[in-house]
Amino acid sequence: METTYPDTQLLIDGRWRDGALGQRTAVYDPATAEVIGHYAMAEPADLEEAVQAAGSAFAAWRDAGAYARGSILRQAAVLLRERADTLAPCMTMEMGKPLAEARAEVMSSADLLDWFAGEGQRAYGQVIPARSPNVTQMVLKQPVGPVVAFTPWNFPMSQLVRKLGAALAVGCTVVAKPPEDTPASPAALAQALLDAGLPPGVLNIVYGEPADIANYLIPHPVIRKVSFTGSVPVGKQLAALAGKHMKRITMELGGHNPVIVCEDANVEAAVAAVAGFKLRNAGQVCISPTRVLVQRGIYDRFAAALAEHVKKVRTGSGLEPATAMGPLVSERRVKAVAGLIQEAVSEGAQVLVEGDAAPRAGFFQAPTVLTDVSLSSRIQNEEPFGPVAMLSPFDTIDEAIAEANRLPYGLAAYAFTSSIRNSQRFQTELEVGMLAINHTLLGLPELPLGGVKDSGYGSEGGSEAINSYLISKLVTQAAV
Ligand code: NAD
Repeated sequence: METTYPDTQLLIDGRWRDGALGQRTAVYDPATAEVIGHYAMAEPADLEEAVQAAGSAFAAWRDAGAYARGSILRQAAVLLRERADTLAPCMTMEMGKPLAEARAEVMSSADLLDWFAGEGQRAYGQVIPARSPNVTQMVLKQPVGPVVAFTPWNFPMSQLVRKLGAALAVGCTVVAKPPEDTPASPAALAQALLDAGLPPGVLNIVYGEPADIANYLIPHPVIRKVSFTGSVPVGKQLAALAGKHMKRITMELGGHNPVIVCEDANVEAAVAAVAGFKLRNAGQVCISPTRVLVQRGIYDRFAAALAEHVKKVRTGSGLEPATAMGPLVSERRVKAVAGLIQEAVSEGAQVLVEGDAAPRAGFFQAPTVLTDVSLSSRIQNEEPFGPVAMLSPFDTIDEAIAEANRLPYGLAAYAFTSSIRNSQRFQTELEVGMLAINHTLLGLPELPLGGVKDSGYGSEGGSEAINSYLISKLVTQAAV
């Protein structure tokens, strides 16, 4: 298939343009390590224009009403679905994921837009019974104001939709800084919104030096809210900066997600679910299962079946139809993941299986399952964010829960059991924002998405997602 990859500019006040100094940076195809295009770099002057555009557009967008805003979001969803066949190869070229996964992401981005369009129309306030008959007490839900949104490269389009959908639906304007590794997919999303009728300035897109952009935009007095998806260390830095300037924040950070497979589970179904989900997007998913804890009686059977699954996974360019798992997004990520694996092995871990990783020019990492990994190894404590899982046996449910809760992360957990008693314990005792029992399907538009502990706070899905873009304003009025 012949696909052309576009260069990406900044979107400021409704116009695509280069940065003030005309600086551009290369974008790589991770399957070939070749330069495929460039993106424009924003300078402080561009950031100031973007933030002023978001500030100027706010009042009219707030006052446009939820129905008008919702119809623009719904029309953008229609356009994304119509354009999916051209947007998917472009996403695969910059990010690496197989074409089918890229197409699914475009379609799920459209679903998210539809969901948030409806949620904006349901941003209900409250009427509070008053103590006197001539008094009315109301809580009005109003948009918080211009938002700055930072999104990562693993789902270049849908991560941005989660923030934009909620913000735009309730009347906020946005300056977004999507990922520099994958700039074209977020730009294509922005174009769909513009083509659907989004007014100039309501959405502005900037790329550049992430820390410089954050340091400029977060303290800016026009900006009222910060939303970030990415790693825990960067999230903590940005949360501290936002706290210093008293900005509201949503933080969707990393995880180190445990899976508990009990002896009473359907072992084959559990293996298929864990293997399939682990290798989706080459493991570059914040809710990817990482620590697989298997009850001792089924441990050997589970390990053998998992190894068989992993061996069969074909890696390659995401544009090739036979590819089940693509490359990692960047050389930086290959070095990070391979480094964690090598370190664990040097500290005594065993490689249960190392899957397909024919030497290629691109940024490939073989899918790998480790056993006997020391709890002090870095990979047991830091999010690997790649196609690697660790398998460990456990004897009692107490032991499994203690291990699941061992780390400061608290994003997602998975459990496989046919026992209601075990299930009840997991629901009560696992310290996570999301728990899937006997399957792995999370992340749907109607489901809350977010973590606890170091994994962040706030929710980026479900009926809760719009709350963080709304303020509650009390109005109490006496009839005189
Ligand atoms: P990174 O922390 O350097 O970057 C992650 C994202 O944050 C990127 O999109 C980057 O542009 C942005 N970023 C980095 N520094 C920033 C700053 N100071 N201000 C604003 N944005 C900033 O890490 P990476 O090497 O790209 O990815 C590795 C780690 O990031 C992973 O191990 C994982 O923990 C995390 N990550 C998480 C998610 C998620 O969905 N929660 C997605 C991608 C990456």
